[in-house]
This record gives sequence, C-alpha cells and structure tokens, in this order.
Amino acid sequence: MRLTILGSSGSVPAPGNPASGYLLSAPGAPSLLMDMGPGVLAHLQEIQDPNDAHVAFSHLHTDHCADFASLLVWRRFHPTASAPGRNLCFGPTDTPNRLGRLSADDPEGIDDMEDTFAFAPWVSGQPELVDKFTVTPFSVVHPIQAFAMRVEEHGSGATLAYSGDSAYTEALIEAARDVDVFLCEATWGPSCEDKIPGMHICGQDAGRIAAAAGVKKLIVTHIPPWADKEATVAAAARFYDGPIELGVPGMQIDL
Ligand SMILES: [Zn+2]
Ligand SMILES: [Zn+2]
Repeated sequence: MRLTILGSSGSVPAPGNPASGYLLSAPGAPSLLMDMGPGVLAHLQEIQDPNDAHVAFSHLHTDHCADFASLLVWRRFHPTASAPGRNLCFGPTDTPNRLGRLSADDPEGIDDMEDTFAFAPWVSGQPELVDKFTVTPFSVVHPIQAFAMRVEEHGSGATLAYSGDSAYTEALIEAARDVDVFLCEATWGPSCEDKIPGMHICGQDAGRIAAAAGVKKLIVTHIPPWADKEATVAAAARFYDGPIELGVPGMQIDL
C-alpha cells in the first residue's frame, strides 16, 4: 500500500498543511482516506479522483472531519464527475447525525449521507473489510468517542496503525503491535508535563508506545502550529531507537 499524507497539522490547519488526512491506496481498488480535516479535499484533488475513496473517521473533532461536508458537495454536484455510486464510510456511532448537521440546509435538519455513502459504526476490536484492506478499530481515550485504526493490506500483508487522537492507553500499543508504519499523534509537543489529562499524548509517549509495540517505523504527526516539531521528534527518539520521521503533507511511503 502507499501512504500519502494529505495533511498532518494537529488541532487546526497550518499554512501549507491541512489538518488530519491520511490516504492509503492500493492498485485496482478505491483508496481509504483516514480522517478529513480542513484543507484535505483540496490536497486530495491533486492526488486522485476524490470520489474514488472510502472514508474512515477516527473521531469527530472538527480538525478530523470538517472537509467531509465539502466532499459531499463534490460527490453530488460536480458537473461532469459526480460519484457514480456509494462508497463506504466508517466512524463513531453518531457520525451520520453530527456530519449531517454540518451540511444540512435547515438549522434543525440532518443531511442524510445514505445517497452517496454506506455508513457503518466502528465496534472496537471488530475488523472491517474495506476492499484491499482490513481495518480494525481500537477504542482510545479522548473527550469524545475515538478510535485508533490498524490497517492490513490483503496479499502483501503490509500493516499500518494510526493513533487518531488519544491520551496514553495500552490500546495504542495493541493497535500498533509490530506494524510496518505507526502514525502517532504528539499534540502536546515534546512532553506531557502540565498538560490536560485524558486528551492527547506527547513525543515522549509516542516513542514509548512505538517501542513497546515493536513498530518498524514511527511517523510523528498531529503537531499543532504552535508546538516545536523538531523537539517533539527528538523526544520520541529518546524512547524509540527505530527510524522516526516527522509527518509532513505530500509525504509518500510505500509499504
Ligand atoms: Zn485532532
Ligand atoms: Zn480530537
């Protein structure tokens, strides 16, 4: 599979870097787009037909899902290339309601995505078959329902895990066990000291989790514009001695 980072900025978009969007593609099948923060649709247009992707949400904070409303407009109303059929959408239980409110015309209304996406809610630990991939969600710790995802490509056996947003939890180690690539958030920057509990992790935690899980490569991501990216990667490197990279938009990794 090929990972393309469409956006890696944490909590809010940054100049030249959309908020969370991670595209997994494999030949001969629709891609899998994990999260769709502000700016992701613009970058996706440069990479592929935006209609040719299933969408999987880690959780429904704005920085992970706001561009879904724009994707619905593209799929329904593009004058020459609207979506030819339904794709799959996975996410927390209340995804259709929350995202339906985002694009409803009426203030009390809910825009029903069923015409263009077939939605199924994540059940923690229950694998979902998504064309060339099997995706297993893992319930994690965040102020709203949130999931990490473990993705395995059929045939090649390549594996990738994505933390989504989470405070420290053993579930992240389980999700990332022995994967080829671990995309791990580090919102708090280098250290979690004096940070709000129950929300996020830091570079040190990302390194600890990557080491405990035995991942083959760590990509540190979801760092806000106000945090020190190099120091965050360096903090992770103190606890994990494998290869580490900073997640940046346009980065592509074949695995
Ligand atoms: Zn976030
Ligand atoms: Zn969040």
